Amino acid sequence: MTLVMKFGGTSVGSAQAMRETAVLIQQAQKEWGSVVVVASAMGSKPVKVTDLLLRGAYSAAAGDGETYKRVADELRQVHFEAIDGLLIPEGERQQIMGENGQFISRFEDLCQAVRVLGELTPRALDAISGMGEQMSVRILAAYLRQIGFAAEAVDATELIVTDNNFQAAMPSLPRTKSKTRVRVQPLLDKGAIPIITGFIAATEQGITTTLGRGGSDYSAAILGQALQADEVWIWTDVDGVMTTDPRLVQNARSIPVLTYREVSELAYYGAKVLHPKTIRPCIENDIPLRIKNTFNPAHSGTVIVPDDGNGKGGIKAVTAIKHLSLITVEGKGMMGVPGIAARTFGAVAHEDVSVLLISQASSEQSICFATPDESTEQVIQALEREFAKELQRQDIDRIWAQHDVSIVTVVGAGMRGTPGIAGRIFTVLGAQETNIIAIAQGSSECSISMVVGGDDTGTAVSEIHALIA
Ligand code: ADP
Ligand code: ASP
Ligand code: MG
Repeated sequence: MTLVMKFGGTSVGSAQAMRETAVLIQQAQKEWGSVVVVASAMGSKPVKVTDLLLRGAYSAAAGDGETYKRVADELRQVHFEAIDGLLIPEGERQQIMGENGQFISRFEDLCQAVRVLGELTPRALDAISGMGEQMSVRILAAYLRQIGFAAEAVDATELIVTDNNFQAAMPSLPRTKSKTRVRVQPLLDKGAIPIITGFIAATEQGITTTLGRGGSDYSAAILGQALQADEVWIWTDVDGVMTTDPRLVQNARSIPVLTYREVSELAYYGAKVLHPKTIRPCIENDIPLRIKNTFNPAHSGTVIVPDDGNGKGGIKAVTAIKHLSLITVEGKGMMGVPGIAARTFGAVAHEDVSVLLISQASSEQSICFATPDESTEQVIQALEREFAKELQRQDIDRIWAQHDVSIVTVVGAGMRGTPGIAGRIFTVLGAQETNIIAIAQGSSECSISMVVGGDDTGTAVSEIHALIA
């Protein structure tokens, strides 16, 4: 039996966390036989190594020659402290310290080059931001060896083959499968534990790419698929997927069972606990997915199961994405004109901006959609170019944006069999005088999304959360 276990930033965030993680790995190997570990960069809150690396890169691109040096000092402190706390001097301490030190020196060299060139390409960003994982796996693997396990750090650049869409690269399954099997299966066959970097991958030519922020979860699913694993477990710092973001609402509770569709909607609409792309490789290969808490392993966490079509229980969770804009294209002359929606979204896609929600009034006199706030001006300009003629003829009256809005999404497969849920949601929001700017419901009826003003987000989430039985 093969189990893939992914450990998030906090689970490898300090010497103590790595010790607890090692215990879990040890137990899993005993129970499952073959264990594949995927690890994130060290990420003890508030210091997240990936954020530090990116901060260094961006400041260097802006011409700042000091920040990245301070970041390098901080990186040394975080990693060397973990190494000191875990590895004994007579063992591999010096060796691993040296390897981590080399990554940090390389980070400084790359930042220096970026500063001189004054340019930071997506390719350079991936080379820089992926180093956190390369450092953490080396520490964890060495510690496991020290306590008697045959563990080996493996860079996923050797395993996961992607396109060259840096920062959100797309894996190629056949190539990934064959490379992973050739490299990882022999380790498993001899009882060793591969400790693999999350987040990073490489092009066919071997150039480092990344799978997107939070992408280590996705790495675990890709490797699970490649190795035909029996289960994939995501170890994090909360008791599984919760009824809402525990940082926003204190009495958020863990949800024991969710369907693939429910968890997809939650992940897509802001529940950071799972990267949304993690789900597809698991569904397509019938690989059960669990989310568990490294710091409370006795808790069963959340298990993700196939949708049996008779969901019960109404609302299961509520989530939010902040810092969005709602862009509206409106005009009396739009009615019945074919192709307006296609041209609108074609123009947005051309700018490489993602659309998170779409709503159209049935009169066809307006169409509105939500995009990240920082892309608003770019999108409006693109639409004004696309519809220059229609604007001139006043078929389209205006294209405008409402800034600082949020999408609040309510999820539960059981909502489709339970009439009156939307009514209850709107009633509580109305009682709080929260204005709902737009609404969208997926045809699966598994989620309802509402656009509200940025200032209303916290209240909307906690009021809706109070409706969860
Ligand atoms: P990791 O480094 O383990 O991948 P992340 O920070 O990416 O951890 O994800 C876990 C965090 O997601 C939790 O600490 C929690 O603050 C946040 N979170 C947001 N929404 C939810 C939710 N619905 N359920 C659980 N956690 C959530
Ligand atoms: N370390 C990466 C990030 O912070 C990937 C991950 O944690 O999943 O985005
Ligand atoms: Mg994460």
